[in-house]
Amino acid sequence: MHNTEIIFKAAGEPEVNVCEIEKCKCKVCGKDITEGIPYNKVISSNFTNYDFLRDTNSKYICAACVWCISNPELRRNNFIADIRNLYLLKKNDLEEYLFNLSNYVSGEFVVGVTISFKKHNSFRCKVNINPDCFWIRQEDTEYIFDVKKLRPIYDLLNDAYMQFSKDEILSGQYRMASIEQFGLGKFREYEAVFRQYRGTAQFNLMIYMLNSERRNQIIQEKIKTKKEERKDGKCQKKSKSILQTEAQEMQQLALF
Ligand SMILES: [Zn+2]
Repeated sequence: MHNTEIIFKAAGEPEVNVCEIEKCKCKVCGKDITEGIPYNKVISSNFTNYDFLRDTNSKYICAACVWCISNPELRRNNFIADIRNLYLLKKNDLEEYLFNLSNYVSGEFVVGVTISFKKHNSFRCKVNINPDCFWIRQEDTEYIFDVKKLRPIYDLLNDAYMQFSKDEILSGQYRMASIEQFGLGKFREYEAVFRQYRGTAQFNLMIYMLNSERRNQIIQEKIKTKKEERKDGKCQKKSKSILQTEAQEMQQLALF
């Protein structure tokens, strides 16, 4: 099945005002059609993805492709679809769906990720069948997401993100103070893994997915617990070192 057909079926095949035409191929997906819409009513002058059109000579577009191209939600959201479900996902939903995809799809499915919130993914997605290892279409690029291989790296990234900023992990340029707080041995161990993936689309996506709201909440809870522990302690007066630690923690939060 074509990518747009899967999405269109998942959406419940909404009504599209097609007209009867002589048998031809859909300009976008290339399937045989006897009804469609003239392409110039669907594709505007801003359209730039001509290299993805399966039949450049055709003048008509099928209902599924029309619906997918015209639907702004498919450009403003990440999405996953099999023929039964169309999931429109926000950034913070991605980790749950991508790492547990077999809970959400069966049979053929497509995955589109957006970071611009305006580019077309739908008709550029590859059709997948394996929820443990699948193609992601991310606007002008596409890459394989291998769940078993990437999950342990994502766990390390989440842990590192408690100490380092996304920019530090992305670039490999860490602040010395952060490394010291994290522990040099542990840092070397983590960085040996990150170094192998830095610069890849998968690494960038995983860093993009790291949940900053959850991270800040965890850090704030840690700070609160530490403060309460100090209050309960015998030392009523805050020592210089405690004040310094608190200042560092607040600085760390402000960074993200
Ligand atoms: Zn089509």
